Amino acid sequence: MIVQLNAARFRMVNEELYTTTSEKAKAMFKRDPEAFKSYHVGYQNQVEQWPINPLNVIITWLKKQPKDWIIADFGCGDAKLSMSVPQTKVHSFDLVAANNRVTACDMAHTPLKPGSVDVVVFCLSLMGTNIKDFIIEANRVLKKGGIMKVAEVESRFTNLNDFLLNVSRLGFHCTQKDVQQKYFYMFDFKKNRDCKKAKDVPEIALKPCMYKKR
Ligand code: SAH
Repeated sequence: MIVQLNAARFRMVNEELYTTTSEKAKAMFKRDPEAFKSYHVGYQNQVEQWPINPLNVIITWLKKQPKDWIIADFGCGDAKLSMSVPQTKVHSFDLVAANNRVTACDMAHTPLKPGSVDVVVFCLSLMGTNIKDFIIEANRVLKKGGIMKVAEVESRFTNLNDFLLNVSRLGFHCTQKDVQQKYFYMFDFKKNRDCKKAKDVPEIALKPCMYKKR
């Protein structure tokens, strides 16, 4: 019974995160901090069912990059990425600070200085109805030539070309595209310019990832 209740709560919080703005999601967790815990217990259960965890792919890649790079993990969960590369400086952001590695903030507005990081990671964290704001923020904090890594569930991309086009209009160039895998798509984007005229770019819409009742 408790297991079923937790699973139902996970699905509810998950749906809320995908269907409201990040500002509302932040307010929801402020009102109800337990909701974040329920979400992460359910999320870990999901991770265990996947053939691969894209976060591990990103960690393996990061371990081969220069140690003096500055990384920003946007939507870091429990900051596993930061723990996995202890010699590298990682700024970890999430709506709630699950531990002292995490800075609690909406990743649409981080405290990072402009042009200060080499890599921004979005691993399964492009939730909310204002994804465009997150990409604009990534562009702001990245150095020119910096890398934005995106991993998302494949079924969220109802129009991949539109996604790639709109991200590129926000100041990026797609340098790597792994869309062969069955479950996850992974992309590398290079920042090629500061994002201006973002107003002309439509909202970046990805389909919510809803989990089925078991
Ligand atoms: N990247 C981690 C966690 C993925 S779960 C991993 O791969 O293990 C997605 C996370 O994104 C959740 O912890 C959620 O709270 C966070 N998130 C969603 N929207 C956010 C926002 N606007 N600002 C900060 N974190 C956000």
